[in-house]
Amino acid sequence: MGRLLEGRNALITGASRGIGEAIAMKLASEGANIGFSYYPSEEEDKLAAVVVSNLEGLGVKARSYGSDAGSFDECAKLIESVHSEFGSIDIIVNNAGITRDNLLMRMTEEQWDQVLTTNLKSVFNITKSATPILLKQRKGSIVNISSVVGVSGNAGQANYSASKAGIIGFTKSVAKELASRNIRCNAIAPGFIETDMTKELAEEVKEEYSKFIPLKRFGTTEEVANVVMFLASDLSSYVNGQVIHVCGGLNT
Ligand code: NAP
Repeated sequence: MGRLLEGRNALITGASRGIGEAIAMKLASEGANIGFSYYPSEEEDKLAAVVVSNLEGLGVKARSYGSDAGSFDECAKLIESVHSEFGSIDIIVNNAGITRDNLLMRMTEEQWDQVLTTNLKSVFNITKSATPILLKQRKGSIVNISSVVGVSGNAGQANYSASKAGIIGFTKSVAKELASRNIRCNAIAPGFIETDMTKELAEEVKEEYSKFIPLKRFGTTEEVANVVMFLASDLSSYVNGQVIHVCGGLNT
């Protein structure tokens, strides 16, 4: 069998590390060319350059773009650049995300705004700017990275949970709006995944959390990327408007 995404062009937000990087590598290993964004800084420029050369090592075209996913104007420019560089945008993965955890009593307006802007407005920014291109192409698959806490809620994460729940409502609405033009939109809700985002948790805390996960461990970035690959490809051609949990059975 040929590679599942041979010759398709994918845009991934926030792929200089973590889950986004694993998604980029997985899609590229199935033949997709990759444009990806990251929040620009000197350190991240270096990380992004390494990711680009790893992707090129898989024999695909790869470009990185320092671009703030929370900025509407920067997202519009990003979509324009990726479209003119690659010629089409067949797959969009809205992955960029941050946490600013705090109990509601102590949560600042800034912590609320930063998380809602980076995690939720970003998904609007990218999808809105790409929609005219997708409609013209009459094909496309959009995959939005939500979280189990967007479904279940989590103490100390009112901002993050609200942003991830918002992504689910957005996903379902876009799925209904664009389906007639052969454009699908789905979300993934990862549970606890080993990345920089969860690295700061103490070992005892991780062990405690693992007790509540039926599979008794955190997931890997590749286990999330495998499901993105499925949703991005024609293997999922009749899957639309769904939220797929990748959480070891934590949420059922
Ligand atoms: P991570 O390791 O912290 O990586 C986050 C990525 O997003 C980085 O590439 C980062 O770029 C990028 N990013 C952050 N702010 C950005 C902005 N304003 N514009 C563009 N890019 C930005 O996080 P992760 O754990 O891989 O998480 C990826 C996604 O999965 C997030 O949406 C997260 O909420 C979700 N998720 C994670 C878990 C988990 O357990 N890890 C669970 C459920 C859901 P820089 O490196 O340049 O900052």
